[in-house]
Amino acid sequence: MEEIEFLVVGAGIAGLSAAARLARHGRTVVCEAEEAPGVHASGRSAAFAHFDMDAPLVRALTAASMPLLEEPAARRHPALFIALAGQDEALDRVEAAYRQWAPWVERLDADAARTLVPVLKTGAEGIIGALLDRDGRKLDAHALLEQHRHALGAAGGSIATRSPVTTMRHDGTHWIVDTPGQSYAARVVVNAAGAWVDEIAQLAGVAPIGIRPLRRTVITFDVPEGIDVSVWPFTKTVGPGFYIEPEGRGRLLACPMDEHPSKPCDAQPEEEDVALAAWRVEEATTLEIRHLASKWAGLRSFAPDRLPVAGFDPAAPGFFWLAGQGGFGLQTSPAMALAAEALATGGAWPDELRAVEVKATQLALSRFG
Ligand SMILES: Cc1cc2nc3c(=O)[nH]c(=O)nc-3n(C[C@H](O)[C@H](O)[C@H](O)COP(=O)(O)OP(=O)(O)OC[C@H]3O[C@@H](n4cnc5c(N)ncnc54)[C@H](O)[C@@H]3O)c2cc1C
Repeated sequence: MEEIEFLVVGAGIAGLSAAARLARHGRTVVCEAEEAPGVHASGRSAAFAHFDMDAPLVRALTAASMPLLEEPAARRHPALFIALAGQDEALDRVEAAYRQWAPWVERLDADAARTLVPVLKTGAEGIIGALLDRDGRKLDAHALLEQHRHALGAAGGSIATRSPVTTMRHDGTHWIVDTPGQSYAARVVVNAAGAWVDEIAQLAGVAPIGIRPLRRTVITFDVPEGIDVSVWPFTKTVGPGFYIEPEGRGRLLACPMDEHPSKPCDAQPEEEDVALAAWRVEEATTLEIRHLASKWAGLRSFAPDRLPVAGFDPAAPGFFWLAGQGGFGLQTSPAMALAAEALATGGAWPDELRAVEVKATQLALSRFG
């Protein structure tokens, strides 16, 4: 039995980014069921950071995170938000919300947007306008995870891979946590198991919070030779539709922004969602997708109010939730890790979160009553 301060369940972006900070306060071990970090949502993301997010809290957490998303894990890349026919009100709404954190955004007409993404259709069946943020961030999930792994190691922490947490009980002072190869006595357990957080809670005899994993599908395909898409912006419809994103010079990633309820699992793409992704791109652009380079699916896990959760469970001493990162877990991870560090160690609320007026109560479990 190893006695430690913090045991973090899950080596996705949530768990690793928090662990890297917690390790400075006491011995920290991250238990990961898979053979490597980032196998689930964190490694399947589109990995872009921008402010076109529904919830003001998520936009504020993104604003706090942007300065902390640095090279090589993040690099500046433009984002273009396009309005299809009938999405003019949505474009106004996105612009108003966006300007709060990125007042530099530019409104473009359809022709100007087409100079950036020449395959966009204009006219009756094409786009009607757009919003350009020249200061988005292309993230590298692997580099982000590596950055945290190094910081964790440097602070004396470690990751135990192939170590699914199988049982958990509280002995009055510590959580006794079992994995197949090792048992731990941890003062604090951080439940950062992504789609599995409610299952981890149930193992610990703690009430679940009703996290909903929603499957999302991604395809990649090559564009005709001679087109360099690496300079194209991340391009997303302001309402229902799709997004595309360059993956190097000759390849695009596309997503139909689908959301299908799923149990926690190794999510796989369904053929109809793959077809939908291709169809939506072909409808709005002059691209023809004949052959896919790859396809995958991942789970975006949402709390009932679709806002992230960070804080101790009021009914279970030492049981800390870090959950519900939905579709914004990479881009908000710096701010969420700061919040988790402060809340799990009883430290001062971070200046970065004060500056964007995010309060601990907004992340707390108590909001579910
Ligand atoms: C298609 C897609 C596109 C996305 N695009 C973006 C984007 O552009 N920008 C953005 O910011 N976010 C995006 N996201 C969201 C982002 O990927 C997630 O919010 C984030 O990765 C969630 O991280 P996590 O650490 O909570 O979960 P995960 O990465 O799933 O990590 C949870 C870990 O817990 C482990 N685990 C589970 N049970 C146990 C157990 N019993 N014992 C030990 N370990 C266990 C799992 O193996 C897993 O590794 C996207 C997601 C998807 C699927």
